[in-house]
Amino acid sequence: MDCPKCAPELETKTLGDDIKLERCRTCFGLLAKGFMLEKMGTEFMAETFLDIGSASIGKKFDKVEDIQCTHCKVDMDKIVDPHQTHIWMECCPSCDRIFLDAGEFSDLKYETFSDKIKGLLKGRRH
Ligand SMILES: [Zn+2]
Ligand SMILES: [Zn+2]
Repeated sequence: MDCPKCAPELETKTLGDDIKLERCRTCFGLLAKGFMLEKMGTEFMAETFLDIGSASIGKKFDKVEDIQCTHCKVDMDKIVDPHQTHIWMECCPSCDRIFLDAGEFSDLKYETFSDKIKGLLKGRRH
């Protein structure tokens, strides 16, 4: 299958029973449905198995813009995380798949966890 950003190197990856996504062998970008990313966010260490590309590769391919969804052949919309405005993702308006460059999922997940920890520390003061 074609990677939206580079070569026809997209392969299906699974983790456990219920996580399934596609990853590019060249740029290590991840293509997954929105709910799948949420699941990955709750899975312990999911990023170390799935998001294996280095952030520097991700940065390089982050510059590739105006990509099309591999499955639907329609232009993907750019979305930005409201809490982490440096992370841009591409989202397919038709199938709800999201494309993340290498390193971006780890970045998102790390931030969510540190927010949780901040919340915990706050709670202790009361
Ligand atoms: Zn790629
Ligand atoms: Zn699509």
